[in-house]
Amino acid sequence: MAKLSAEDRALAEAQRFCAVENENRLGMMGPPAKIMVNGQPVFLCCAGCESAAQEDPDETLGKVAKLKEAVKAEKP
Ligand SMILES: [Zn+2]
Repeated sequence: MAKLSAEDRALAEAQRFCAVENENRLGMMGPPAKIMVNGQPVFLCCAGCESAAQEDPDETLGKVAKLKEAVKAEKP
């Protein structure tokens, strides 16, 4: 996480978990990988998840939306 820019870190923290491996916390396996899916930034636990993320962009973005909702729900 420390290697990301402040802007990317805020985005990654809002997502918290990998968009493909939903149990993998971002930063757990080194610096999170940032990719663009349909023009939207998506974070992955590692570069190895990119092909899976690009395979079904709609599903990937849907997962990201759910992950962000879960993070928001934790905050008062
Ligand atoms: Zn991964």
